[in-house]
Amino acid sequence: MAPQSHNRRDFLKNLSLAVLGTSALGSSSFAGAVPRNSLDNRGVVNHKILGRTGFRVSDVASGAPKNETVLKAMLDSGVNFIDTGYAYGKGNNERMVGKVLKDYDRSKLFVNTKLLPAEGGEGFKSKDDVIRQTREALDRLQTDYADCVMIHGADNSKVVEDAAFHAGMDQLKAEGLVRSTGVSCHGSAWYKLPDESLDQVLLTAADTDQFDVFLMTYNFYNADLAEKVFKACEKKNIGTAIMKSSPVQIYKLLEKAVARYEEQGEDPGEDYYAYLNRYKERAQKARAFFKKYGYTTDEELINAAIIYVLQDPRAHTVCLDIRSLEDVKRYLALSGRSLKSSQARLLKDHQEHFGFLNCRIGCNACERACPYHLPVNTILRYNYYYQNKKDEKQAMKLYADLPGKKAELCMSCPGYCESACPYGVSARSLMAMAHQNLSFDRESFA
Ligand code: SF4
Ligand code: SF4
Repeated sequence: MAPQSHNRRDFLKNLSLAVLGTSALGSSSFAGAVPRNSLDNRGVVNHKILGRTGFRVSDVASGAPKNETVLKAMLDSGVNFIDTGYAYGKGNNERMVGKVLKDYDRSKLFVNTKLLPAEGGEGFKSKDDVIRQTREALDRLQTDYADCVMIHGADNSKVVEDAAFHAGMDQLKAEGLVRSTGVSCHGSAWYKLPDESLDQVLLTAADTDQFDVFLMTYNFYNADLAEKVFKACEKKNIGTAIMKSSPVQIYKLLEKAVARYEEQGEDPGEDYYAYLNRYKERAQKARAFFKKYGYTTDEELINAAIIYVLQDPRAHTVCLDIRSLEDVKRYLALSGRSLKSSQARLLKDHQEHFGFLNCRIGCNACERACPYHLPVNTILRYNYYYQNKKDEKQAMKLYADLPGKKAELCMSCPGYCESACPYGVSARSLMAMAHQNLSFDRESFA
């Protein structure tokens, strides 16, 4: 794909397509979007063995739980895998999980927590530091042991080979404080080690023979990246917990931008209104796309994406971002489901038609092409946190903390990353949109 012209008009054109991409039904269609028939909570109906841990985990798992009420509802529904970590609220998420754990049979739950490597991300300070961090996590969790302790967000091979982490884990396992060891990975970031993608980092981790569980991204968009990792996991009997199972994003940027301008008493300008109207037209057309498969809401596309992962026997448990009691009912209703042929076609067609709007989490193939060394995949992942997970503040903080230049540069760049993307992702527009979403200073977009 040739680099795109970089005038503002073309940028907005791409942006309007991006808006269309997965918010395909238009905002009015989202009202009361949870399908009625998915509201009865039948609880977990499927379990799988989490690799060499031997633990029988629920197919639906809790990603870092949002609050006690939601976590209790999930546990009461049969969810038995809980993911947490120090990074979520500087230990507050672990504290909240700890409060809830006391009321449940600990032996029936698999609690996974994660430790942050030292600044720089290539390892831990020392074995003692790993032991200290783990003991502190156990205190916060108010439990005698962790079922699994992971390296949080490994983005390079050095950290998965880190001698201090493995020595610390060996001792903690011998003491009965930790039962298994794992690693979570979204892929690498250009500004650290440009050559390593998700599969490279995790394949190195598998080669160490030290890890029992991987927490990895897998969805219908990045299946090729995950394929190699699954093969290694099967060979070594490594358990797999999945994150980012639904890459479907909801872009409402134009509407939001216009509303924001109007709210501030400013005129967004002709371009905005023109593209907003065009977006509405395209949204109308996109409704036909959904109707073809008998679906009426965006939520049903998300359900299909999650079922795609849930039904894969190589994906042992799927961590979902569940925020409300309504979410608990909705997502638990997906446990044990198989993808219908119409859903499989929907995902395939979605990928074909809207794949250019979805950066594959864990990939970094275009980052070498960027003259400014922008970490494209990382920034678009933060945008995923912002738009999909609604973790706006955290996503903006992560973006602000990134070293070096930001994606405002994309506005005046021909888009070398787009030419380099093997999936034809409209990276430049998405990067500029991410900057708009994630930046505290939104002036540069106007
Ligand atoms: S569009 Fe942005 S990320 Fe892509 S090459 Fe240009 S500056 Fe780099
Ligand atoms: S834009 Fe394309 S090449 Fe770049 S990280 Fe995303 S999927 Fe990979």
